[in-house]
Parts: sequence; structure tokens; C-alpha cells
Amino acid sequence: MNIAQNVERGCCLFPNKPALIFEGLYFTYKQLNEMANRFANALLGLGIERGDRIGLLLPNIPEFVIAYLGILKIGAIAVSINPSLQSDELKFILNDSGAKVLITTETIREKLPKQDLPHLKHILIAEGKAVGAMPLSDLMANASPSARAVEMERDDPAAILYTSGTTGFPKGATLSHGNVISNMYSMNHCCEMRPNDQILLFLPMFHCFGQNAVLNSGLNTCATIILQRSFDPETVLTSISDFNITIFFGVPTTFILLCDKASIRDLDSVRFYFSAAAGLPVEIAKRWQDKFGKVINQGYGLTETSPLASYNHELRYKLGSIGSPIENVEMKIVSLDDGCEVAPGELGEIVIRGANVMLGYWNRPAETAKAIKNGWFHTGDIGQIDELGYFYIVDRLKDMINNGGLKVYPAEVENVIYQHPGVAEVAVYGVPDSVLGEQVKASVVLKPDQVITEDELIAFCYQKLAKYKVPSTIEFVTSIPKNPTGKILKRLLRQENSASPVIN
Ligand code: AMP
Repeated sequence: MNIAQNVERGCCLFPNKPALIFEGLYFTYKQLNEMANRFANALLGLGIERGDRIGLLLPNIPEFVIAYLGILKIGAIAVSINPSLQSDELKFILNDSGAKVLITTETIREKLPKQDLPHLKHILIAEGKAVGAMPLSDLMANASPSARAVEMERDDPAAILYTSGTTGFPKGATLSHGNVISNMYSMNHCCEMRPNDQILLFLPMFHCFGQNAVLNSGLNTCATIILQRSFDPETVLTSISDFNITIFFGVPTTFILLCDKASIRDLDSVRFYFSAAAGLPVEIAKRWQDKFGKVINQGYGLTETSPLASYNHELRYKLGSIGSPIENVEMKIVSLDDGCEVAPGELGEIVIRGANVMLGYWNRPAETAKAIKNGWFHTGDIGQIDELGYFYIVDRLKDMINNGGLKVYPAEVENVIYQHPGVAEVAVYGVPDSVLGEQVKASVVLKPDQVITEDELIAFCYQKLAKYKVPSTIEFVTSIPKNPTGKILKRLLRQENSASPVIN
């Protein structure tokens, strides 16, 4: 098995059907497969072997798809990296994964550290001038368009996707070919995807949701994917009508922004809506159903679960629920005290077992052992189950902020703010936001006699952190609330800052 066989099957069955459409460019299944083959052969020419890591530091452009498939075809491992990360964040991931080749754009390349990347041998430029680096197009032009995806075992690693942890350092969730293949078939099944579907993809492909739930499952059913660089309500509505989009994937923020803007006519062609990555507010789910006459199907999962774990299906729909586990996946709620399964209605941690659970965190056996116990992956999400087996997310065990589907781990932001010489103490937490779900806020105690403005500290964060992690507000305080053992009371800070309960 090899994930990249999805495009080879498309090439056999529907060679002339568009696989990918992007800003006026059309790639048929045959063309996409040939380009992936060229890239695979180019990598072999650079001496890349099975198991080597290749970094994809790219926005949503066709080269992402071509390179991703090419990497998998030769059995190498795709390391996808959020292009909004800053220099230190990029250095950490490139060194942690040991990527030998990096595919990026000229603009993003400027953020790369100039030194201390001992594993990186080649930088390939997919967009913009390639001064002092190799243009991807030249490399591919000289490579053969013929290749075949190599046979992989179920547990061979295919992709590493970085997700931050409570320690403040990202960890590489390593997904196998078996993980991704099982999840893309589940996704096909849940969304009843068909070859004549037209799927809009604006969710970032560096994230598991865009990469597996949309890209891989779309290619697996030989559907057509209409790729966009990012989400913009106007462009999305135009694409829906221009391309007769039939399946629409988004995060809750997308649905919140479109609910008022779109008319029934704008969304005429869409037969299926799917939301995940953050809790869909019940109010929005109801308003959408009232206005457009169709439900938003909600999925739940994590990068570590490839991502889909549970699904609230249209035919068995329960408002506010994340549904029930997908096939080949088990979920249960366990007590935070003794780890035993709790009765329906009781709160506990959601744990997941099944074909979708990652191999582990790249090169981090201790972190992996903490996350996967007796085969059960511990999500850090607190939930409950009802008598009918429907799951509900209620709270979080992990210290995480869900900023419009992008996850911010306060420890990582706190580590950066502590680097400012004027800061004595800091606590970072989420505050409710009607569109994004949550925004990042920091409470900061300054050292004696220090004068720093909010703008200065925010500018300091921008130099070191991706935009979505930077606090939107910083409050200067004289002390931070703590319990008797000195643990910061984040819950209290969140409560003090929320007019209404925080949306998960
Ligand atoms: P990520 O690894 O970025 O996919 O983030 C996974 C986290 O997103 C989960 O642990 C949840 O906290 C959150 N999440 C994903 N789907 C949902 C959902 N449908 N409802 C609430 N939270 C969700």
C-alpha cells in the first residue's frame, strides 16, 4: 500500500478528468500523476532514499500536491510545515525532523535561518526567483515522467505533521501509510464522495484536515479539487458558483463568516457541508440549517488521529454532538483519576484506539508513551457520552487555545515572552471570540522599573512567532493568580476574561 496510489488509480480510470484546478490552471489526473513522477525521479536523482524526510514549506499551491505525492511515491516521508512560522520555529522543525530537502517559495525562504541546519542539503524553489537555490521547475523538466509508487507496509511512516505540546515545543505526529489510507476511506464513506464531486480546498494543506480529510480523500475518489491559497469569503462564494462545488469543507469560523454573507442561491450546488477542527457553536449550526435547509456535518479528530475519529452523520444527526466513532475506530471516556471507563453522562478524557492512531511522535518515545497507553491515544479533550453513544466535547485537559481551528499552545508563547528582558512573569490563555472561537491573550508582570508598551511586546512576539500565535491583547498586571503550590490558575484567568463560556 502507498497513499500515492490514489493518483495512479485516478490516472488509470479518468486520465483526462481534472484532478486539480488552481487559479486558471487545470491538471488532469494523468498530468498530475506525471508531474508527481517527475518530482519522484528528481528526488531519486538528488540521492534521496526511502525513509528520508523532505520538508514542504509551502502555501496551498499545486506544487505542494505534486511534491507531496512524489515524496510518497519513492517511500520518503513528507514533513509539512506551516509557512507562517518564523525563523526559530522553522529551525526547530527542520532539525527535529532531519529534513534533507526543503521545497519552499522565494518569499518564505527569506525567513529560513542562515545557519545551523546541519541536515538540510537542498532547497528547491517552487515559486518566485531562485537566486542561489534550485528552481523546482528546472529539476522536474529534466526528470522522467514515468514512475510507480513503491510498495509500502501498513506501518511505514508517510508523513510527519507538527503539533505543539504543553511543553511549548512542537512534536512531529508521525502517520503511516496505513493510518492515512484507512482514514481517507472513512472520509470518503462519511461524505459519500463520488468521482463527479467538485471539492473546494482552502484549508491549509500543511494541516492534517486539509492534507488527509480533503486532499487525499478527494484524490482517492477521483473527484476534482479546486485549490485556493486561503479562505476569503468573496473568493469562496465565486468559486462555489463558478465550479459548482458539491462538497464544502470548513472550520466553524468559515461557517460563521459565510452564514450572513451567502444567499441560498450562492450555495445552490453544494450537497454536503463538513466542519471540524473546533467546536461548531450550536447557534450557528441551527442558523445554517434554518437558512440553507442543510445540516453542517461535524467531525472530530486530531492530527494524531489522521485526523478523523468521530462523525455526526446527517442521517443520525444530534445537534451539538461530535457524533460517534468512525469504522475501525473506538472511542471512550475515561476517568481522570483512575483511567477507567466512566458511565454515560459522566465527564472524563476522550481516548481513541484504531487504525487511524499515529505511529508516535517522531524520535520522542517518552512523549509517545505518555500519549498512547495500552493502544489508547489520550486526546487531552474532556467529554461525555450519552446513552445512545453520542460524544460531546465539554472542556480541555490540555493547555491549548483554539484560534479559528489553528491551535496555539500557551507554553510556547510564554517561552517567547519570557525572552523579553523586561518581563518578570507571564500567563497566556484564550478569551472568547465570536468569529474565531478564541483569541490569544497574555497577562504580564513587568520587572521593577521596566516600562514596555503592549505594542512593543506584541512586535517582539511577531519576530519570533507565527502570526496566529501572537497575543491580540496583552494586559500588564501586578500579579498572576496561583494556587498554594504556585501553579498558575489559568481557569480563573479565562473566567475573569469571558463574558460567556469559552467555545471549544
Ligand atoms: P489538531 O491536532 O490541530 O487537529 O487539533 C486537535 C484538537 O482540535 C482536538 O484535540 C480538539 O481540541 C479540537 N477539535 C477538533 N475537532 C473538534 C470538534 N469537532 N469540536 C471541538 N473541538 C475539536
